[in-house]
Amino acid sequence: MTMAQRRLAIDIVVPVYNEEAIVAEFHRRLMDVVTPLRREHDVRICYVNDGSVDHTAAELVKAAGDDGGVTILELSRNFGHQAALTAGLDHAEGDAVVTLDGDGQHPPELIADMVALYQAGYEVVLTQRVGAELPAFKRWTSAAFYRLLSAIGNTRIIAASADFRLLSRPVLQALRQMREYHRFLRGMVAWTGYRTVVLPYTERARLGGTAKYSLRRMARLAAEATFSFSLVPLKIALVVGLGFLALAVAEALYVLSFWLTGRQHLLVPGWASLMFMLLIVGSALMIALGLVGIYVGYIFQEVKRRPVYLIRTVHGDAGDAPPDAAHERER
Ligand code: UDP
Ligand code: MG
Repeated sequence: MTMAQRRLAIDIVVPVYNEEAIVAEFHRRLMDVVTPLRREHDVRICYVNDGSVDHTAAELVKAAGDDGGVTILELSRNFGHQAALTAGLDHAEGDAVVTLDGDGQHPPELIADMVALYQAGYEVVLTQRVGAELPAFKRWTSAAFYRLLSAIGNTRIIAASADFRLLSRPVLQALRQMREYHRFLRGMVAWTGYRTVVLPYTERARLGGTAKYSLRRMARLAAEATFSFSLVPLKIALVVGLGFLALAVAEALYVLSFWLTGRQHLLVPGWASLMFMLLIVGSALMIALGLVGIYVGYIFQEVKRRPVYLIRTVHGDAGDAPPDAAHERER
């Protein structure tokens, strides 16, 4: 393949939020990897400063301001990790884009391997934590989270993956069409279905500072993943409703059995009808709620206006059209 010789344009996107203590050190480590890579490829770095309220911005400018090919995107406020990543992805123009956290937990040394896998034809290079030096609590919640996702979601998301990955141009363009507000990039990338390879890595300890994902933020990300990749919660009402219905039927049969065996005088007058009404009304309400839930789910998926299909390549005459033409067509 001639691909291996081709000079590629590679973007590296790094979201940072209140990382003043470590951005300079991070940038130095990143440059240790980027400098040799620049002999073969055009590598640009894009820091997304996600509304830091400390001196991250100044530290970034000091550390990276003089290096060529470094962009610093400033967001107007703190939008959160996934939104910051999205901002960086939207600004990437290269053949491939690599995203990694700016806290040193994602070893930049892997970028060269990612690029090699891209050159080998993979469209997505994911990473997977193995034997990480993570606190037990984080490891445990992460494992529980991925187990839940695989149980109720219908998009396969690999466990222990992070927002440390390489995306090729077609995937990037696909993501740009997915303008949903609640974003769980791990799931969205999996949803595109492009040719994927998984690279294992050992997650490092932070260079310094503290994790920005508090328990509350972790819970929010988990909720975002659950509700935007699974409609199971919406169907809970329906299941509960059907349960009530079964109870109502069981109660009716129970009462009937008294009548059939001539023991109806043992029943407290009014109990049977009252109980039956209670259960029937309960089941009717829950079923109605469940049905509404299902429609809400459909509406929810529709309003995202995700593309109905994605094109990998176009052969023949249509191949002359600009590659984006098909993507931009409204469905
Ligand atoms: N981050 C961000 N915006 C936020 C929270 C975090 O850009 O609102 C950045 C943060 O600076 C880091 C990366 O996202 O580079 C991952 O965050 P963190 O290390 O706190 O998460 P964890 O590694 O604990 O999952
Ligand atoms: Mg981190």
